[in-house]
Amino acid sequence: MKKLTILFFIHIALVNYSQTRKVFFLSPSDTYIISSDLHIHTVFSDGEVWPSIRIKEARKDSLDLISMTEHLEYLSYKKDVIITDRNRSYNISKAILTKDEPLMIVNGSEITKPMPPGHFNAIFVRDVNPLLNPDGEKSMIEANKQGAFVFWNHPNWVENRDDGIARLDKMHERLLEKKLFHGIEVVNEHTYSEEALALALENNLTIMGTSDIHGLIDWTFDKEKEQHRPVTFILSKNRTIKSIRDALFDQKTFVWHRDMLIGKKENISPVVTENLKISSLGYYKKIVTIKIQNKSVVPFKLRYLGDYTFHSNSSILEIPSRGELLVTIKTKEILSSIEMSFEVLNVITAPNKNLVIKKNINL
Ligand SMILES: [Zn+2]
Ligand SMILES: [Zn+2]
Repeated sequence: MKKLTILFFIHIALVNYSQTRKVFFLSPSDTYIISSDLHIHTVFSDGEVWPSIRIKEARKDSLDLISMTEHLEYLSYKKDVIITDRNRSYNISKAILTKDEPLMIVNGSEITKPMPPGHFNAIFVRDVNPLLNPDGEKSMIEANKQGAFVFWNHPNWVENRDDGIARLDKMHERLLEKKLFHGIEVVNEHTYSEEALALALENNLTIMGTSDIHGLIDWTFDKEKEQHRPVTFILSKNRTIKSIRDALFDQKTFVWHRDMLIGKKENISPVVTENLKISSLGYYKKIVTIKIQNKSVVPFKLRYLGDYTFHSNSSILEIPSRGELLVTIKTKEILSSIEMSFEVLNVITAPNKNLVIKKNINL
């Protein structure tokens, strides 16, 4: 009887994980879209909560991967919380996770130096303790020795750059030459930096977006106003830590910030194409109705780029998240298929550049 009860509860737990988890996007074939937030603080540096709350928040937000990236050099509560082992935040968190749940965690830390070079996150580290070094470059060398993926945090932070413009100093150029960091935050908490996006593209850095959360996720990103934390989606070959780490080094990411998706064209184009389905509902006279479906979590704002005109809409179309829009097109004669091109106004592939997609539609 006892055994049965336990089995029953295990079963309920499994069902709950799958029932409550959000699917952000349909995945292109052979791709796993891993949802991640890889910049998080707890009371083990200057965050306001215990690691268990971070795990609960990540589960609630249907994340696949997180990292507690506590400041090495900045411990707000050192009079109250005695921290001798810098892996503690990770170890406590890891112990909370159950074997069968989708959420994964990797060990990480924030190397926190004045500008230059500023703050850097090192994730996939084995042991955080040896990273503690007054010389930031030496911390980064140690992180790299451990196989870490290292990224530059908030290069647009006004405390470091009073004009909010992300730019490289000589020191960053040297760190880049030595390949000591591999990614850059284009989105941090509420900010988005076009200059950081340009730096990512010019220097082959992985595009990152993180919450850098210190308080509570739901107070910082108000769900009632349909806000959400920034999420980095990693396009991985499978769900193993090794494959996810490889994908990060291969720059296979895109970021969700507000209603925007930001990423390299080759990463984001297959995802948007997969999530926008267009089908025909047939002709009435010489006017055809098409249905545009959006399977993703993001509303898509489209600008039609072709020569046809529509019977009800302008060339700007908004397809709600997980919704659809019917559009009537005046094709002048009855056709068996048409090609339609759209600029996706809220999908950004470079500064001032939006994704363009082409669809062939059988009418
Ligand atoms: Zn920081
Ligand atoms: Zn931080």
